[in-house]
Amino acid sequence: MNLINLFKKILPYVKPYRFLVAITLFLTLIGSLLAQVNAVVLDWTVDSINALVGSPEFTWGKAVKILTIVSIVLLGKEILRAGISFAQRNFGEKLRINISQRLSLGVVERILKYRMAFFARSENAPGMLQARIDQGASSISRTIQSFFIDLLPMIVSSVLALVLIFAANLYVGLTALAIVPIYFWITSRQAKKLKGSRKNMRGFNEKRSGSIMNILESMNVVKSFNREEIEMAKQTELQNGFYGNQMKIRKASFGYDSLKSFVSQTGTVLIIILTSYLVLIGYPGMTIGKIMYHIMLFSNVTAPITQLQRIFDDLNDAVIYAEGYFDIVDADNEVEPTGGYKPEKVEGNFEMKRVDFTYPNGTKALHNISLRVDSGKITALVGLSGAGKSTIVNLLDKFYEPDCGSITLDGVDLREWDTRFLRENIGLVLQKNHIFDGSVEENIRYGKPGATIEEVYEAARKASLYDQIIALPKGFDTAATNLSGGQQQRVAIARMFLKNPPIIFLDEPTASLDAIATEQIKNAIDAIKQDRTVIIISHSISQIIDSEMVYALKEGHLEQSGTPDELYKKGGVYKDIMDASARSLNIEKLAQTIDFSDDDDD
Ligand code: ADP
Repeated sequence: MNLINLFKKILPYVKPYRFLVAITLFLTLIGSLLAQVNAVVLDWTVDSINALVGSPEFTWGKAVKILTIVSIVLLGKEILRAGISFAQRNFGEKLRINISQRLSLGVVERILKYRMAFFARSENAPGMLQARIDQGASSISRTIQSFFIDLLPMIVSSVLALVLIFAANLYVGLTALAIVPIYFWITSRQAKKLKGSRKNMRGFNEKRSGSIMNILESMNVVKSFNREEIEMAKQTELQNGFYGNQMKIRKASFGYDSLKSFVSQTGTVLIIILTSYLVLIGYPGMTIGKIMYHIMLFSNVTAPITQLQRIFDDLNDAVIYAEGYFDIVDADNEVEPTGGYKPEKVEGNFEMKRVDFTYPNGTKALHNISLRVDSGKITALVGLSGAGKSTIVNLLDKFYEPDCGSITLDGVDLREWDTRFLRENIGLVLQKNHIFDGSVEENIRYGKPGATIEEVYEAARKASLYDQIIALPKGFDTAATNLSGGQQQRVAIARMFLKNPPIIFLDEPTASLDAIATEQIKNAIDAIKQDRTVIIISHSISQIIDSEMVYALKEGHLEQSGTPDELYKKGGVYKDIMDASARSLNIEKLAQTIDFSDDDDD
């Protein structure tokens, strides 16, 4: 990205605030005019006092008059300047904050629309994405503020001071003018030299934020393996890079700043010598007062240019960070595709034909899969971990699109279905369902935002959760994150009862739960299965055996399909998995131990 592109991109964000920009600019321009007043007043004061001293017309009355005028003008100007400066900074900040908010909200609005493949890419890991968004938004808004609020008045102030110097004397003007390009040149060299390091800074920032997040998320693993030192060493390396790079930038900046200060001082010295010389030779209009006048004007020329460095830096940062930001916001090809098909009723007959699928990181998860899921039936996907079961569910939920082959629902290609409508008709319960910050009630209501409290209770009852929640001191106001794993899982199931979709995908819903919770959830799921199309992925024999159709997968290939009995008789992947599960449960011994007469339906 270059500067012009950057401005094209940020203009739409500034447009809504053009009025604010105009007011702020106007105020700042007046401020820069006022900045010249000191020099003029000082020039006049020195010359007037000088003329009065030693003159036969000297009276104290005249001296007091001069000093009164000076005081009124300078103090009056200062009061005006204070008011203007307050208003200007206030509006400038308002502009920056408004734009920053727009940028932050804009990006969230966008990524909510993106397909899952976007989030599956390693460069879009949550911590990195967050860093890129935060830095982009703050850097762009700061640039807008610097550019629209600071830069223009600075240039005007500088040019105005130059005009005044030229008006005072051509030679002094030329001397001042000669310094300006040197100043610019040093500033642009500085910006160029630091560009690479600043770009590295972006990478370091993203990695740093991602890595700390990573440690926090896996704290129990770090501790249980006693790997604190390894994590510390990784951090140290990262931080060394980060701070080393920061120091490099600072060091170079300090060097250039000193150089610029030297150039500016040289300019001041030249102007003092030149003006003094002109005064000494009695050049017309040259008085002692002019020495001060020229020095002050010259500092008004260089002071804004010194600030220019900061704007250059901001602009360069913005070019670097805005690239990351706009890569996210403008990823049009990541917007989830949708069709317009919304039938009156969804039957729930899925068909996959010769589907291949590869994840964005290059893992080929499915090879030539053809299968049917019939409406109103329970279909089980069986296979070892990594066989591709969840991937099939991901494709049926339109989270990803197949590389080739076709997927239809009720005879219509999934691509033609309205994506939001499709998902409204599918309920997904995962092994670990996300529980949001908030109460149990709010978490269940996520399934149907407008649901009444009675509907929420009813859903909780169906999910065998109601009695347990109501027994808690805060009942349905309890923070959902405080519930046990099994209870959280039933919150997710209650959420689905509330949503009440005709199609249900259950992806190992009981895998991480204890036996009692598993039984309660099995009951909840048995209730929800009625009259719906269900796909279940499970390692639990009891859940597979209840299904009407089984697809057995191995390493992304479909190995077998049929009813549980047929497949078992045939032998192969399915039989192997079932036998292994039965052995792991020690079913023979269990059968001898368990008292089946004591049927407890709890
Ligand atoms: P299963 O559900 O049968 O355990 P999955 O469908 O989850 O298997 O995974 C199938 C293959 O795809 C595995 O090799 C897995 O590593 C890979 N995989 C799963 N999810 C992703 C993802 N988001 N990005 C990249 N690869 C993935």
